[in-house]
Amino acid sequence: MKIYDISLSVTPGMPVWPGDPPVEVVQIVSMDEGSEYNMTHLRLSAHAGTHVDAPHHFLNDRRTVESLPLEILTGPAFVLHLADDVSAITAEVLSCSSIPPRTSRLLFRTRNSKLWASNIPDFQHDFVAVTADGADWLASRGIRLVGVDYLSVAPYDDSVPTHRILLQAGVVVLEGLNLSQVPAGYYHLYCLPLKLAGADGAPARAILVAED
Ligand SMILES: [Zn+2]
Repeated sequence: MKIYDISLSVTPGMPVWPGDPPVEVVQIVSMDEGSEYNMTHLRLSAHAGTHVDAPHHFLNDRRTVESLPLEILTGPAFVLHLADDVSAITAEVLSCSSIPPRTSRLLFRTRNSKLWASNIPDFQHDFVAVTADGADWLASRGIRLVGVDYLSVAPYDDSVPTHRILLQAGVVVLEGLNLSQVPAGYYHLYCLPLKLAGADGAPARAILVAED
């Protein structure tokens, strides 16, 4: 059984959305300093690193992250590779792609994944993302979960439409994946966001298990 860990390591200095607080992972009790145990304190946005968005993030509708269905967060998922010259995931790009019929969880590997593979520390504004017409396309074809390999499913300068369309349709949005090592094809996705009560998103561990 081959397991791909498609999560980012949570570490200080990892890129975060402009204006978001930096990730802090601080050792507040240390055996190196004579304590009987080690303990780490975390401070981070619910949208740091690999994470899911809840509808409440853009709809303000109280549908918060602990209510996301586990039935959507786990199950068969298709990894689609998009060529490096694809700069936006539009309806046209999607209709020309080879997404198998009946796919309900779809993860996009774009040139973004190379940023993680090469540990680029600065936030990149020109990441590949899903346009509004791409979001309409996905929602209308019964996609239940969309995964992307940068920190937002939507283009940097146009966050609202893509998020609203997907979240309104009940599509789970999984962001901040590193798919650089993952060949195209079907896998079993396990995505388990932290059960943060009342939050608009949550960091998640996400893995893909290759099906034999
Ligand atoms: Zn988010």
